[in-house]
Amino acid sequence: MTDIAPYWRNYIDGTWVDGGAGRLVVDDPGSGAPLAEQAIADAADVDRAVEAARRCHESGALSDMRPIERGRIVQAMTAFFRERADEIAPVLTREAGKPLWEAHVEIEGAAKYFEYYGNQAATVEGRSIPLGAGYFDFTAMEPYGVSAQIIPWNYPLEVAARSIAAALATGNTVVVKTPELDPLTSRYFALAAEAVGLPKGALNILCGHGHEAGAALAAHGAVNQIVFTGSVATGQKIAAAAAQTVVPCVLELGGKSAAIVHGDADLEAFEENVRWGIYFNAGQVCSAMSRVVVHESVHDELVERIAGVASSLSVGPGIERAEFGRNMGPMVSLKQRDRAVGMVSAAEGAGATVVTGGRAMNLPGFFMEPTVLSDVAPDMAIAQDEVFGPVVSVLKFRDENEAVRIANGTQYGLVAGVFTRDLDRAMRGASRLRAGQVFVNEWFAGGVETPFGGYGKSGYGREKGREALWNYVQTKNVAIRLGAAVPGRA
Ligand code: NAD
Repeated sequence: MTDIAPYWRNYIDGTWVDGGAGRLVVDDPGSGAPLAEQAIADAADVDRAVEAARRCHESGALSDMRPIERGRIVQAMTAFFRERADEIAPVLTREAGKPLWEAHVEIEGAAKYFEYYGNQAATVEGRSIPLGAGYFDFTAMEPYGVSAQIIPWNYPLEVAARSIAAALATGNTVVVKTPELDPLTSRYFALAAEAVGLPKGALNILCGHGHEAGAALAAHGAVNQIVFTGSVATGQKIAAAAAQTVVPCVLELGGKSAAIVHGDADLEAFEENVRWGIYFNAGQVCSAMSRVVVHESVHDELVERIAGVASSLSVGPGIERAEFGRNMGPMVSLKQRDRAVGMVSAAEGAGATVVTGGRAMNLPGFFMEPTVLSDVAPDMAIAQDEVFGPVVSVLKFRDENEAVRIANGTQYGLVAGVFTRDLDRAMRGASRLRAGQVFVNEWFAGGVETPFGGYGKSGYGREKGREALWNYVQTKNVAIRLGAAVPGRA
């Protein structure tokens, strides 16, 4: 088993520091045992980090740099994560629970954000606007300054990397508030910053409690832009804080995303989408395929196939699951596991059928059986509320209108899917589904290059892709009055 350092510090203004609020214990979800301690920042630590980021921004150390050079530094962080993947992955698995191979997928995802946004740095251009012979007018895209980023526990590296990379590539400085449940691997961002030569204060990494350090960061008067990924309830608090300081924010919130499976879909191929869509990271994915809305003609066969995938998964400690395959790790915490189990038994009480799974597992650690529910009605709590666990609800439809109505019938709108061999039907679905991304015939199709974000209470603003860059820059217009006459003209 990997040795893990017993105590992990925060990183403020280029220095490793203890936390003003003491330490917290990080548990290993695969065993339920304590893993390490993490320094916990208080509001004074947050203030020091924001001030360091502000000073670094005002020095011009990043923002005055030629973008292609800044991009090269961001890209160098890609190499750091790729080269250290074998060292980072076991730590990520031990603190977050996910199978070792999934930890590698996450680290590679994080590395790709630095690659992609490092490449984009030199492409953020303004334009010139014709105002006639007496003027020259142009726009410049300038960084906001200090970007505050608040990260959830389900993808602590990947979610942080997508915002850090875009912010640095556009010349902002950054303060990251890492998640309390699995903050350890975020240390590698600080090590990467040192390795690639980012100026002191450009990237500050601290863990703290949401209600204390998170709230202090979101409300800080020297923060110029906020990126928040997490629950709707916390997102509302962040938006309220951003309204007080009048800074823009991006909110990436939850989801209750539906795959519509038509009668002509390739049901065998759909099994692989079940594997990834709902059991990847034990279902703790904001864009999980938590509902399957299936045509009545293939309902029974599909339920059987989904249940077959669920019951074929080998569930156990992530550290023992190094190979890609039909396996699943624990959930991140006892609280999350018990909440999911409770939601399933409430659904059963409301009339849903537990086809397979539904219970906590008799193992040390925070394990839940991969679960499939059928006979779920659209208005049941299990069909409306995010479980954030390995639980899929199957609902039946008779015609296309009903399918779209069910899929759109929650407060969320993060992603959606259409499975069919009929292109016209797929396109009709894609245009009628109220979601920031629609997958046709492959759940999670897309990548770092494709914009990601929600409709409805799934949030606003977009991360990933070129769209995300515009969250990190503001437009300045420069209008120049030229000499009145054009020489040589009558
Ligand atoms: P959460 O809202 O409880 O916490 C997210 C972060 O916010 C944590 O770092 C937490 O410490 C911090 N926080 C908590 N209270 C705060 C406050 N008052 N002020 C400032 N910060 C505060 O969410 P979670 O349980 O960590 O993550 C799960 C949720 O995140 C799910 O709803 C999931 O769908 C969502 N999520 C969304 C995306 C996306 O990209 N849309 C990605 C991952 C997770």
